[in-house]
Amino acid sequence: MSEALKDKISITLNQNPKPLIPKEEITFGKYFTDHMLEMRWSAKGGWKKPEIKPYGPLMLDPASLVLHYGLECFEGMKAYRKNDGEVVLFRPEMNMKRLNTSAERLMLPTFDTDLVLEGIKELVRLDSRWIYKDEGYSLYIRPTMIGSEATLNMTSSGEAILYVICCPVGPYFGSAVTLLANTEDVRAWPGGVGSKKVGGNYAPCIKPAYDARAKGADQVLWLLGDDHKVTEAGTMNFMVYWINSDGDRELITAPLDGTILPGITRDSLLHIAGKIEGVKVTERIFTMSELIKAQSENRLLECFGCGTACIVSPVKAIIYDSKTYKVPLDPNNASAQYSPLARKLYDQLLFIQYGKSDEYQSWTP
Ligand code: PMP
Repeated sequence: MSEALKDKISITLNQNPKPLIPKEEITFGKYFTDHMLEMRWSAKGGWKKPEIKPYGPLMLDPASLVLHYGLECFEGMKAYRKNDGEVVLFRPEMNMKRLNTSAERLMLPTFDTDLVLEGIKELVRLDSRWIYKDEGYSLYIRPTMIGSEATLNMTSSGEAILYVICCPVGPYFGSAVTLLANTEDVRAWPGGVGSKKVGGNYAPCIKPAYDARAKGADQVLWLLGDDHKVTEAGTMNFMVYWINSDGDRELITAPLDGTILPGITRDSLLHIAGKIEGVKVTERIFTMSELIKAQSENRLLECFGCGTACIVSPVKAIIYDSKTYKVPLDPNNASAQYSPLARKLYDQLLFIQYGKSDEYQSWTP
C-alpha cells in the first residue's frame, strides 16, 4: 500500500482469515471475504477517514432510522481477475455515481466517489484470494449506505454509515427462465423511486417473486399502467429482440423514464449491440400487446434479462393472463440454453469484463 493511500484510508488486517470455501459450495451472496470497508458520517463532522477492517457485525442503535423507515441504498458491482493476475473492476465509476444519486434521494450524504473507489480497490486487492482463478469466477461487491441516527422521528439522518462487503461468485450459466407477467403488483411508477437503488424498492418485490414461483415461473416480469408497459424482469433490466413492424431486426428495451433502474449491464449491452451490423437498438416504451403480437406473428426472436449478477438471463416463456407464450431460444439448436444474440452479447461483455478487449480498456480501470 502506498504512503499516499495510508494517509487517506486506515487499514486493520484480519489476523484470522477464513479458509476459502470450496468452489463447488459457492452460492451467490452467502459467503463473505475477510475484510470490509467502512466510512462514517455525521452532520456535524462530515465524513471520517475510510477504514478497511476485519469483516464483522455493525453495532447499531435499535432506534436507527434505517431499521424503521428504510433509509438504505446499495450497489452491486464485480471485480474480475485478468489472465495476468491483475484484478479489475467493471465500470465502477457508474456504480459510485448511482449510489450517490440514490443517497441524495434519501437525503443521505453524498461522498467523494474517487476516495471510496480507491478504498474499494484496496479492499478487493486485500481480499483477492477470494476471486477463484478459474474462468467465470469473480468477486461481487456490495457498497451500502444506511441512515444510522437513533431517532424515531421521520427526518433525514444526521448520521450515516457507508460500508462495502464482498462475496465470491462462480460462473453463472443460467438456463433459460420463465417469467410471470405480473398484472397486479407494481415495482415502480412515475414519480416513484424505481430509478434509484434503494432498499425500499426491493422488500415489496419478494412476495410477488414467491407468488410467481408458485405459478411455475422463475421471476416476475414487471408491467406498468393499464396498457401493461413492459419494464423490468426480477432485478434485471429486460430486453426484447424482434423483427419490428418495419421489418428491422431490433433490440428494444424500456427507456430510462424514472421507473427503470439505469442498469450498467443494460448500458453496456446497448453499446455493444449498437455496433453489431443489422441490429437496430431502440430505447422506447413498449407494451405486452406488442410483445404478444410479435410472438403470434413469429417476429419475436429472443427475450432476456440483464444485470450484474447474471449478466444475461435468457427467457424461454412468458406467462401472461394465465396463458403461456413461448419465447424462441435457438431454432437451429433444440438443446440451446442461450439464444444467439443473448449468447453473443454475454460472450462479448465477459471478454470486456475480464480486461481482454483492447477497445474497452477504459471500462476495466
Ligand atoms: N434492475 C433492477 C431493479 C436491479 O436491481 C438491477 C441490479 N442492480 C438491475 C436492473 C441491473 O442493473 P446492473 O446492470 O447495474 O446490475
